[in-house]
Amino acid sequence: MATVDVTVMGAGVFGLSVAYACLLRGAKVQVIDPAGVGTGASGGIIGALAPHVPEQWNPKKAFQLDSLLMQGAFWEQVGARSGMPAGYARNGRTSTACRCGGS
Ligand SMILES: Cc1cc2nc3c(=O)[nH]c(=O)nc-3n(C[C@H](O)[C@H](O)[C@H](O)COP(=O)(O)OP(=O)(O)OC[C@H]3O[C@@H](n4cnc5c(N)ncnc54)[C@H](O)[C@@H]3O)c2cc1C
Repeated sequence: MATVDVTVMGAGVFGLSVAYACLLRGAKVQVIDPAGVGTGASGGIIGALAPHVPEQWNPKKAFQLDSLLMQGAFWEQVGARSGMPAGYARNGRTSTACRCGGS
């Protein structure tokens, strides 16, 4: 007899987000990751999220922008439920010019 409704393999940001979404919908969820939480690409030190440039706008870019705009409320809820800061912030963007090969 199954004791869970959903088994998620992998505790990176995608696996944990899927598990969280299933939990919010009332499912009993287990996450399996022999290596531990955030040991894959999600454990890196870089975490910039950026929408695509507006040129050649298309449905995929629109979907990504919609997802980006949902981040604030999503991570605020995660922080409130977990009691741990998610570390999400809208910091804008800085850029540095590289003049490679210049004198
Ligand atoms: C250096 C670097 C910088 C990055 N910078 C950015 C950035 O600035 N902005 C951005 O949006 N993205 C960035 N990315 C990409 C982003 O980190 C990844 O797209 C994202 O973390 C992938 O999440 P994931 O959950 O799919 O994979 P992962 O975080 O890799 O999680 C996969 C998990 O699955 C587990 N696993 C593997 N096989 C099994 C198995 N058979 N059973 C159970 N568990 C298993 C692994 O142990 C791992 O924990 C960067 C990636 C790297 C490497």
